[in-house]
Amino acid sequence: MAKVYDMVIIGGGPGGYTAALYAARAGLRVVVLEKLSAGGQMALTHQIDNYPGFVEGIDGFTLAENMQQQAERFGAETELAEVLSLDLQADPKMIETSEGIFYGKTVVYAAGAGPRELGLPKEQELTGRGVNYCAACDGMFYRGKTVVVVGGGNSAAADALLLSRIAKKVILVHRRDTLRATKVYHKSLTEAENVEFRWNSAVAELRYGEKLNAVVLQDLQTGEKSVVECDGLFVSIGRKPATELVRDQLALDQSGYVIADESTRTSIPGVFAVGDVRTKVLRQILTAAADGAMAVHYAEEYLSEKG
Ligand code: NAP
Repeated sequence: MAKVYDMVIIGGGPGGYTAALYAARAGLRVVVLEKLSAGGQMALTHQIDNYPGFVEGIDGFTLAENMQQQAERFGAETELAEVLSLDLQADPKMIETSEGIFYGKTVVYAAGAGPRELGLPKEQELTGRGVNYCAACDGMFYRGKTVVVVGGGNSAAADALLLSRIAKKVILVHRRDTLRATKVYHKSLTEAENVEFRWNSAVAELRYGEKLNAVVLQDLQTGEKSVVECDGLFVSIGRKPATELVRDQLALDQSGYVIADESTRTSIPGVFAVGDVRTKVLRQILTAAADGAMAVHYAEEYLSEKG
């Protein structure tokens, strides 16, 4: 007989484990379903300096482990399981996983977001062979080499800056004529001698042998194409929410995020969207954690109203 939990949390990032902590402390029977290991995107971040309470900052992997252990100290369970399908309208709600079926009176959907791809031919095959989505994770492989960074937001700017300290040369390619990133990055990037900008440009093609060896850039104003030899490409063009599993059940916005306000309540009663997966202005560890606390507040309300 499968267990029925008060709350099943899908995703063990900062939002998921904060919900687990609050739920367990509120006496709810709660399980976190996590595919690989705690932390989500956070676990890939080398140094976190904007989560309060850590004077010298902390690495994401350690912060993730701490969050998991803290929730488990109050009785939250963790199951390493991949979610295969969900029935969020059922009562209790049904979650089919690689490790069997879980039932939850409430569900917290905290599956996070993954990197957005350019969508170029061979991009997926070349991932790990020159194409990368995480400068903090893979930048070290490009010491003394030439890399291309695509994007104009804070991620692309931060990645270009980080890579400028490792690589011989960084070419930042953006489809506009100015960065969207906050001003603080502009100055540092312009001052870095090994950073070159290619404005109004897009990557049109990947060139490769065993690995990526060049990209073809297209000038979006003139249409002119040029070949840029490089050892690596870092794609930093934002995130895409992990909402494939709930696409047909929850209301999503145009970009695929679960529509939910600060209450984290979704279009289905008893289902809450937490962290990067929901519509929000600022996607940070701190705001994901705040969502986790909110979800439990409204889940308790839902459970008591349901009786
Ligand atoms: P973002 O702010 O959404 O920026 C994405 C960038 O990629 C934009 O410049 C966009 O161009 C470009 N882009 C999107 N699709 C593209 C495509 N198909 N081809 C080429 N370019 C494309 O995403 P983000 O930089 O990943 O940041 C996400 C969130 O995390 C933001 O809220 C950000 O502030 C936050 N963040 C903060 C920091 C920090 O240091 N505080 C660091 C990293 C991230 P357009 O400008 O033309 O739209």
